[in-house]
Amino acid sequence: MSQTAVSRLDQQMLIGGSWVDADERIDVIHPYDGERVGSVPMATEGQATEAVDAAAAAFDASTLSAYERYELLSTAAREVEERADEIARILTSEQGKPLPDARGEVDRAVQTLDLSAEQAKRMFGEYVPMDAQRGFAKDHCFTQREPLGVVAAITPFNFPLNLMVHKVGPALAAGNSVVGKPASNTPLTAVALFECLEAAADAIDASVPDGLINLVTGSGSTVGDVFLEHDAVEAISFTGSTPVGKYLAANSGMTEVTLELGGNDPTIVWSDTDIEQAAAQVVGGACSNAGQVCNSVERVLVPEDIEDQVVAALVDAAESLTVGDPFEAGTEVSSMVDDDQFETVVDLFESTVDAGATVECGGRYGGDLGPRTFEPTVLSGVTPEMPAAREETFGPLVPVITVEDFDDAIREANNTNYGLEAGLFTQDIDRAKRAADEIDAGGVNINTVSGFRADHMPYGGFKDSGVGKEGIKYAVEHFSRAKLVGFHQG
Ligand code: NAD
Repeated sequence: MSQTAVSRLDQQMLIGGSWVDADERIDVIHPYDGERVGSVPMATEGQATEAVDAAAAAFDASTLSAYERYELLSTAAREVEERADEIARILTSEQGKPLPDARGEVDRAVQTLDLSAEQAKRMFGEYVPMDAQRGFAKDHCFTQREPLGVVAAITPFNFPLNLMVHKVGPALAAGNSVVGKPASNTPLTAVALFECLEAAADAIDASVPDGLINLVTGSGSTVGDVFLEHDAVEAISFTGSTPVGKYLAANSGMTEVTLELGGNDPTIVWSDTDIEQAAAQVVGGACSNAGQVCNSVERVLVPEDIEDQVVAALVDAAESLTVGDPFEAGTEVSSMVDDDQFETVVDLFESTVDAGATVECGGRYGGDLGPRTFEPTVLSGVTPEMPAAREETFGPLVPVITVEDFDDAIREANNTNYGLEAGLFTQDIDRAKRAADEIDAGGVNINTVSGFRADHMPYGGFKDSGVGKEGIKYAVEHFSRAKLVGFHQG
């Protein structure tokens, strides 16, 4: 049993300014050893409705200026910073990522809050040159940006802190009220974040109405349906799996929806690159957070003539990773978040090997590694129709697919219903330009892996990977609307 995991963290939900309980609770477990970390309430439909009602009333009551919203968010950033070590421990306890990675996520969340705070001061409209059309030269028109109202923020398990900040930060920056709904297996970091937001609301001079910031925990479908059906919810910002995203899109009516969904991201390693360096990045990009990253490297595309060299370098990099207890110093890869996630990866691995792929290294899982742990595993001889190439694996698998030439590499990169991100290692500017123009994904990263993300850049997929962009400035645009104001001659 891990000696350092948090335990007995039995938390409540934040509704209308009060921390409240529910009759039923959900246990949160430490993925590495299965021990109970704590629990959160299972919100009823009525409680989720109350949270939206409270958010709607608080939105109407709020008079926060841009500067006051900046103060709220930057003070929240300081609160998170002050509790960084404790929050990182909660994050590792409930999610299972190695502690240094959890610390990295907390640091990113602090920066995402600070970036959101700055963006509150940049809610610019636009002057419209009316003399562009004949007959309107004496008119003056401009747009001003306004908040939408209640924003609902639904987040997944894999980056439970920073992905919640990516929604709540920009939503508050734009002047909205929020109702957060974290994943049921990793809700405790979200509780800590909302404690920090609440402490910030108490600390600043401006009056923040109760209910501006709400958090409900519990079943995704119960809470999600309340968000879909309640008239006061003006926007739903969702990060999670593609089937749930499609359900929300199909049922959202006139509600604004942002969807950050799954991926099956390719990274091309071309012959003209430094293969060792590229391989190290590819393995890092495939195995970080045990592969549970939306833009992780899901497929490695290499020309046949360098396949052996690339595979050897990938094996070296994968074998150098330390697998184990996420609280132990030096651990780089630990457990999958829960049994379902683990079994999905086992099935995809086994069925891909049955279909003829070769295990170059790794391939062990469970047993003495830990009940939900899978070794970093390099697979060669993978063909596009094999399960690990076709599906989003969300595990530490590195499937290598050979391509005949660069046309084939581009074709293969696009041979998926997803379109989140892509990576290409090359020294050739023409190849880089072609990849940027022809790969159908929300981001094409040259000389790094698909998994690259800085928190202020526009981020969001095409095709089944989603609709809309996150990244603070872009999220603020989604969470606000442009109103046209015109001054005309009588
Ligand atoms: P998930 O879809 O199972 O759950 C995500 C959230 O949706 C949870 O809070 C869950 O409770 C909630 N939910 C479940 N059913 C719902 C419903 N009917 N209505 C509303 N909400 C509902 O996803 P997960 O397993 O937590 O996360 C893994 C997935 O998230 C992967 O597919 C991954 O690629 C994706 N993801 C995408 C991004 C991105 O930015 N594109 C980032 C991280 C994760």
